[in-house]
Order: sequence, then structure tokens, then C-alpha cells
Amino acid sequence: MADRTHLTGMTIDELIEFVRQLGEPSYRARQIFGGLHGRRLRAFEAMSDLPKAFRAKLSEMSTASALTVENRYVSEDGTRRYLMKTQDGQPVETVFIPTENRDTICFSSQSGCPLKCDFCLTAKLGLLRNLTAGEIVEQIIVVLNDVYGESAETPHGTNLVAMGAGEPFLNFEKLLKALSIMSEEQGLFIVPGRVTISTAGIVPKIYEFAKLDRRPNLAISLSAPTDELRDRLMPINKKWNLDELMTAAKAFEKTLKRGERFTFEYVLLGGVNDSDDHARQLVRLFEKHDLRRVKMNLIPHNRAEGLEYYPPTTERVIAFKETLESLGISAYVRTPRGRDIYAACGQLAAKTVESARFVALPMREAAG
Ligand code: SAH
Repeated sequence: MADRTHLTGMTIDELIEFVRQLGEPSYRARQIFGGLHGRRLRAFEAMSDLPKAFRAKLSEMSTASALTVENRYVSEDGTRRYLMKTQDGQPVETVFIPTENRDTICFSSQSGCPLKCDFCLTAKLGLLRNLTAGEIVEQIIVVLNDVYGESAETPHGTNLVAMGAGEPFLNFEKLLKALSIMSEEQGLFIVPGRVTISTAGIVPKIYEFAKLDRRPNLAISLSAPTDELRDRLMPINKKWNLDELMTAAKAFEKTLKRGERFTFEYVLLGGVNDSDDHARQLVRLFEKHDLRRVKMNLIPHNRAEGLEYYPPTTERVIAFKETLESLGISAYVRTPRGRDIYAACGQLAAKTVESARFVALPMREAAG
């Protein structure tokens, strides 16, 4: 099957132009947009407010489901990992993380990833390709339909994080387009305030991002307090070093509104970057760049075969956190979720069934 135009990735204006070329009035575009995003339909057949002939025409020339769910894994802790494929066969992974107060969907911006972070399993895939805006949006639709039911209203308060596979700032345009589509009130209505973008440090994009109004929250993956160590762990540091990264972070900080903060993520690797000295060096780094409105998310390393690292002991994690806090930096330890099904940070490598504890449930696919 040749790739068909994926209407899920079109803005309302683009849909208006699309239906105009088919000789249809612009309200048809709004009906399609409402069907795709408001009702989260993945088949035109189901859009009962469109004439039958028009639905058939749409199905022939375009698609509302560019992703196929190959497998869904459910963790003991309720986390779900979706392994999907694009029309051209590239893997896409999305994770659903339920918590008591709110649910989070962690989506991918690329298939694979070009950055070679030494502690991350996704890096082993290399970059397969950038995802389209439609493929980004559809990940969210698939998960919402599965978790809440196909006809349930989109729940208010779901959070999105661009922390799946890929580097979001290397697919910046498509990501922003996807976010703008998802924020539409007639659609998913997930506003930027509920979204967090995580970057490994693509410095020029941090400046661009800082200029956006109505932008999502920002997280920067730091994981080392010195260039020497960061060069080794995250080779992107050779392109933009800590001085450049922190200068960009400061420029971003200046654009924060009152009360807002932003996040640094720090993967804790046992015996590598987890000493009290490292924590003190981090605080000095923040002081040097006059960064004040930051919080640290500490992520104990999630193991995966083929990676040479291991997580620190719980005592070390606590000591690291306390050292940061004693020096005035707020620090949080991220609870690992879905490790048993390869759904945790840094474990997304399109893995199929290998772990002993996963539960694989093939999903029913919408046609068309
Ligand atoms: N490329 C972007 C988006 C991915 S977010 C970025 O790097 O920010 C994924 C987060 O998980 C990053 O903070 C990354 O540093 C972290 N991570 C990668 N591998 C990990 C692992 N094995 N265990 C714990 N965290 C990991």
C-alpha cells in the first residue's frame, strides 16, 4: 500500500484547503477535524455526519490511521507500552503512565534516535526517521482510545511528555505542528501548559523555543556536571558544551513567567556521576550561570542488556538528592515505571516480547 495522505496531521486550515480541492465546502473540514480529534476516530467510515460517498472518497485517497498497533504490554504497575508501526514499517513507541492524581502519556518524536547517549537503549537503534505531525498526534489518540474507551470524552488533565524515543528538538517543526493541532478546542484540547518537551541540549532550538508564546514546559537532560564527563555520556556535548547549554538555559529562564520553573533531568549512573562531589559541582555550575528557577529530576538508571551502567544504591540516590537540597536546589527522584515491560526512560528500543513478566495483548485495529 502506498502511503496515503494522513489527515490526522493537518491543521484546520490545511483541511479546509484539502476539501476545497475536492470541491467541498469548508464546514466539511471542520466535521473531519471534529471526527479525527474531537471523537478520536481512526476511520472515515465512522464519521456519520459526512455523506457516505464522501466518506468512501476520503478512505480511498487518504487515511486516518497511519499507525498500526503491533503490541501492547501492560506492566505490573499499570504502565502500558504501545509498540506501533508506521505505514512504511518504522517502529513507534508510546507509554501510558497512570498515577493517582493524573495520567501521563509519553510520546515519541522520532523513530529511533540519532543521539548516541551512552546509557540509553534507544540510541542503539540510530535514527530511523523523523515522525510526521500526524504520527505524533495519532500516538496520543491510540492511547486515549485504549485507556478510556473509543467513545469516551477526552479526559481533562492528561499530561503529555515528549520523552519517548527521539530528540524532539531535531524534529522541531513537526512537533510544534502536532502540539498546535492537539491544543485545538474542537479536538483533543490538550493545552501547552500540560505538555513538557525534553531535550538533550540542542542549543539553537532552546533559543527558538524561548521565543514562542503559549509554549510547553521545558526539561533539559543534563546528566553530568563537567564537560569531560558529559562528552563521554552524551556526545551531543561535543557540539554544544555545558557553557553554551547553560547560557541558553539562562536565556530561557529569563523568559519564564512569575512562579514558573524549568527542569533538568539527571540520569543517576552508579559509580559514574552520582557522588556528592558531582552534586556540588552541579550546584556550582548553576551558580556560575546564575540559574535560580530550576528543579532537578533525578532518574536512577534503568538497566537494559547491552548497557554498561547500573543504578546507584537507594542510599546513594537519597544522599545525592540531599546534597543538592542542602545547597538550595529542589530535587525529585523519579519513580521508575514499567521497567518490567521495557517502558521506562531509556528502555524504548522497539523491543518485542522478551521479558518474562509482560502481558502482550494484540489490539483490534480500526480499518481505513
Ligand atoms: N532526547 C530527549 C528526549 C528523551 S527523554 C532527551 O534526551 O531529553 C528520555 C530521558 O530518559 C532523558 O532525560 C534521558 O537522559 C533519560 N534516559 C535515557 N536512558 C536512560 C536510562 N537507561 N535510564 C534512565 N533514564 C534514561
